[in-house]
Amino acid sequence: MDGAKAKRRMLQGKGLRAMGDLDLVQVAGWEQYTWLRHGFSTRGGGVSTVYGKAGIVSDLNLGWTKEDSQEAVEENRRRVVKTVGQSADFKMVTVRQVHGVGVQVLREGNDVFEGRLETPTGRAVLEGDGLMTGVTGVLLGIQTADCVPVLMVDVERRVVAAFHAGWRGTVAGIVEQGVAAMGQEYGSRVEDLVAAVGPSIGACCYAVGEEVRGEFRRAFGYAEELFAGDRLDLWEANRRQLVVAGVGAARILVVGECTGCARNEDGGRRYFSHRMEKGLAGRMLSLVGVV
Ligand SMILES: [Zn+2]
Repeated sequence: MDGAKAKRRMLQGKGLRAMGDLDLVQVAGWEQYTWLRHGFSTRGGGVSTVYGKAGIVSDLNLGWTKEDSQEAVEENRRRVVKTVGQSADFKMVTVRQVHGVGVQVLREGNDVFEGRLETPTGRAVLEGDGLMTGVTGVLLGIQTADCVPVLMVDVERRVVAAFHAGWRGTVAGIVEQGVAAMGQEYGSRVEDLVAAVGPSIGACCYAVGEEVRGEFRRAFGYAEELFAGDRLDLWEANRRQLVVAGVGAARILVVGECTGCARNEDGGRRYFSHRMEKGLAGRMLSLVGVV
């Protein structure tokens, strides 16, 4: 346990204050892949005012929530796509997430891809909880506010994937199936994959009931190792799925920031948290793409 904790600290994602003053989290080490673009958003750097103290705090809400204005979300999305893509030309594709295991594969010229490209301010037309592509100039976006975003990259074939793993997606094995899908769709070998488990609710803030625990017990022989008392460790659950699927532990980074309790230096919440803010929360985006 101590070893795992030490490793997690060592692999901690680094904060990056990038252009446009957005506070984004990037994976330490992924900068070596010069063709790769990625980032996990926080609340920092946007123009939304509905979730903080109005007029004092502005937030980077990236979800089309009913509380926020369309203009604010559009501007926030434009900024984040420009910052992560390092170009205004990047398109973004998101999905209407349904807590399942469906993955949309975006290939140049295929039915799914045609007409589905969004401008940074567009709305999702596809349904699913995972996205995969090797097409350049496209950022795949997974929207969360506690659920676990997992980014995966085949560094040889230059294929990227993004997954939405709440407890339901996790128990259904979306990430484990995602690794298999990378192999089927692109011939990806597990030794060429790197993966990152993004900011999301940590075991520190995630107490669950017996029903959820029962679902995990039925799904995984190692389920009890994911619990401490009534706390569920979704980071470890998804890390474990990657390992079981064959991704080397040294190639997996757990960012390790909890959306429930991570704070900025000024004491403000660093992330939106559906659970901690009792449903009145904005959304982050986790993005990955190929230049
Ligand atoms: Zn926490």
